[in-house]
Amino acid sequence: MNSTLIKNITLIGVVNGEVIENTSIAIENGKIKEFGSDVSQNSSSYSHVIDCEDGFLMPGFVDAHVHLLANGFRNEDYMRDPLSYYFYKGLNAAKLTLEAGITTVRDCGLADYGFKLAAAEKLFPSPKIQISVMPLSITGGHFDVTLKSGHDMIVKYPGLPHPICNGVEGVIAKTREVARAGADFIKVMATGGTTSANDKTDDIQFNIKELKAIVDEADRLDRKVATHCHGHGGLELSIKAGVHSIEHGTSVDKKNAKLMIDKNIFLVPTFSVMKNQEIAAKNRTLQENKIEGTLKLVEIHKENIELAYNQGVTMAMGTDSGVQEHGDNLGELDYFVKMGMSPLEAIITGTLNSAKCLAVEDSVGSIEVGKNADLVFTKKNPLDDISILKNRNNILMVFQDGFVVKNLIGIP
Ligand SMILES: [Zn+2]
Repeated sequence: MNSTLIKNITLIGVVNGEVIENTSIAIENGKIKEFGSDVSQNSSSYSHVIDCEDGFLMPGFVDAHVHLLANGFRNEDYMRDPLSYYFYKGLNAAKLTLEAGITTVRDCGLADYGFKLAAAEKLFPSPKIQISVMPLSITGGHFDVTLKSGHDMIVKYPGLPHPICNGVEGVIAKTREVARAGADFIKVMATGGTTSANDKTDDIQFNIKELKAIVDEADRLDRKVATHCHGHGGLELSIKAGVHSIEHGTSVDKKNAKLMIDKNIFLVPTFSVMKNQEIAAKNRTLQENKIEGTLKLVEIHKENIELAYNQGVTMAMGTDSGVQEHGDNLGELDYFVKMGMSPLEAIITGTLNSAKCLAVEDSVGSIEVGKNADLVFTKKNPLDDISILKNRNNILMVFQDGFVVKNLIGIP
């Protein structure tokens, strides 16, 4: 039996978000066995005892929007780099993400079933992964990377479906195809994007019949749908079609915020990638014709997300890491606090709410007896200053299923 006692610790994110100061927690066989003042302090009953001499323990975080395999094959890199390079880069992305305190992720495109399987078998350090395999895109849409020359730049190998589908029959077939390839959920490009060559962020992509067909087919296959939404039209159609989560959510307004609350739709605002795109626009590394629009988009996004938050829309934490560097995922919490959340609320959003978005709240997302011991330890108090979590060096220990997968303090 593998059992660990962690003592002299403040627990943050207990059950529904409570904080318990100066207490103990016992882990047994990868699960949280008990916590509080009744936990036995008899060290002979544990295989490991960790005395934290004051410190903070919170649930492992859940990033609801990453792309672990986005690096290595960007644009024309794909023409030069061997296929294997793509996966090795992914291993590093997974490791950095785990070391940042993220113990579970939802991959919104490009991680395939083999990558998920290898991570689940713990062949490399990685968060637990839910995959969408390949996002669905219309011809000329946000994930159609065919150049005007006619050259298709999408990564191609067996097991990775092509993203393009059109028409009700086409989208139903594509939903089945990505599900067959191992998708845990269906990612759909409902509007244009800041990085795509052939569209504008305001463009509506799939029509309502197509979106509804995707949601219905996904439902039949027991999968949920997440839509990438910047423009107002695509966001409105997504809500009408009954998707599970809206990614970015740039154009959310009062009316749609209310509909999202009524329909239990999560908003994953991805402030991190919006900041990244703002920097890219200011440094003029975006396409020239995207710069002005992107700067405006970032401003609208900030305003509208704040409005949605004040209306009471449920948010989950997602970063879109992969578009930017991996490993400072918890910087997203800083944006939540700047928007008006308390540090504790931001932590609950990044743990329990995000676990609910992935429908894994029965096993992770809070410190609760019987849940997996996915935990993050810091010496600095994130309730005093949430921004300490952004720096990976402040994430001193990470536990995954009771195992220490990161240890910067040398406690055995
Ligand atoms: Zn994304």
